[in-house]
Amino acid sequence: MLCGHGLFRAYLHKIGKLEKPDCVYCGNDRDDALHTFFECSRWIEERQKLQSEVGVLTPETIINVMLGSGVHWEVIASYVETILRQKKVEETKLAARETAT
Ligand SMILES: [Zn+2]
Repeated sequence: MLCGHGLFRAYLHKIGKLEKPDCVYCGNDRDDALHTFFECSRWIEERQKLQSEVGVLTPETIINVMLGSGVHWEVIASYVETILRQKKVEETKLAARETAT
């Protein structure tokens, strides 16, 4: 589920592709999977919608919640996909803007 490393700036920073690992949405100093799925203010709406269906999620409980029910699994998987897809679209746009200037 946590593939798509290339979409997290902390990872791109680690492999030397970016100068800074910060989150482009909220300015948090590390953009990684944990930040994106559990903390980032950019995804509050998606997160609230998810938690209204599966309850409060934390990095410690998410695996159990996913494994506990097929429906929860689907809902969480689609939350992750939605965010990664959106992130990819927006970051491609940002990158295009950076090269244009
Ligand atoms: Zn953020």
